[in-house]
Amino acid sequence: MTVSVPAAGRPAKANAFCLAAGEAALYASGVMAFADITADLKARMPELRGRLLANQSLAEFAWFRVGGPAQVFFMPEDEGDLSYVLRNLPGEIPIHVVGAGSNLIVRDGGVPGVVIRLGRGFNAVTVEDGHRVRSGTAILDVMVARAARDAAIAGLAFYSGIPGTIGGALRMNGGAYGGETKDVLVEARGLDRQGNLRTYSNADMGFSYRHCGVGEDIIFTQALFQGRAGSVEEIAAEMAEIKTKREASQPRNRTGGSTFKNPPGHSAWKLVDDAGCRSLRVGQAQVSQLHSNFLINLDGATAADIETLGETVRTRVKDHSGVVLEWEIKRIGVKA
Ligand SMILES: Cc1cc2nc3c(=O)[nH]c(=O)nc-3n(C[C@H](O)[C@H](O)[C@H](O)COP(=O)(O)OP(=O)(O)OC[C@H]3O[C@@H](n4cnc5c(N)ncnc54)[C@H](O)[C@@H]3O)c2cc1C
Repeated sequence: MTVSVPAAGRPAKANAFCLAAGEAALYASGVMAFADITADLKARMPELRGRLLANQSLAEFAWFRVGGPAQVFFMPEDEGDLSYVLRNLPGEIPIHVVGAGSNLIVRDGGVPGVVIRLGRGFNAVTVEDGHRVRSGTAILDVMVARAARDAAIAGLAFYSGIPGTIGGALRMNGGAYGGETKDVLVEARGLDRQGNLRTYSNADMGFSYRHCGVGEDIIFTQALFQGRAGSVEEIAAEMAEIKTKREASQPRNRTGGSTFKNPPGHSAWKLVDDAGCRSLRVGQAQVSQLHSNFLINLDGATAADIETLGETVRTRVKDHSGVVLEWEIKRIGVKA
């Protein structure tokens, strides 16, 4: 089979994977879209059970509410379905996995290849003996925090303040208010690009600050967490305190959370503030007035506005303090 992965909105160039007929129709109509390769993929994978959509807008999934479409958007039914697709998808097709999109800029030109979003089949959460919680990776962090609270398991309340999925928490070593994924993870399970099941111990994960060392091709499907004995009332009070602090200090709308990692010995927000960037604007994107390490989409920003604003902040901070800020937010796709 031959497939094509050009950037959305650009004329399709003849290349090794070209499906010329489908592309010509799309581009002649002037629609911002990739060549539709879903029929060919379905034909190649007759046992596929999940949903495969062409040119699905990603803006509606990402917290920033910006960005172009996924050439192919795939929601696997379960781990077996995901493994089947990974095994049978031509190796030249790029793959990206997304969670809740709370740490993500999807560029305006969209994402060539297949974007995978895990759904209901990856949402289970169970409490196990020894103060442990096992969860799928599509579930929101807060659901794991609540399950632990209800079972009087302490140590996982910090997850109630992070608006992503457990998959995103594993990839980002998500943490807040003194807790971090690396402190509580026993092991994670995932699939590689060939669909093979792999298990990673905490040490295998190669965690560091907002980073996981496991190859980018791995799609995490399950996690096992270790908590400790606690009291439901105390954990509930801790979660309420986290909620109050968050609401007072962070924008919760059309943002991607902390934009830059804290450089060793510095706070990113302070460097941004000192460089005079609080409230700085590019188009409809703005550095938050409430928290200067957050960028926000005022309404109608493009991904290019947001990314340009971030790069402008990086330049100003470097000029002012000599410190080079590193993006914490992940950026995927191509520019329009
Ligand atoms: C208001 C706000 C507050 C925030 N506060 C915090 C905070 O306190 N602490 C913190 O750590 N973060 C915070 N964040 C950032 C964000 O919530 C975390 O990074 C979160 O872990 C991202 O999860 P996600 O599901 O949204 O991932 P996405 O944003 O969708 O993706 C982020 C990365 O995770 C990868 N990924 C997602 N799912 C999987 C999977 N199943 N397997 C492999 N890789 C996967 C993606 O490929 C991508 O590289 C905040 C964000 C917002 C908007």
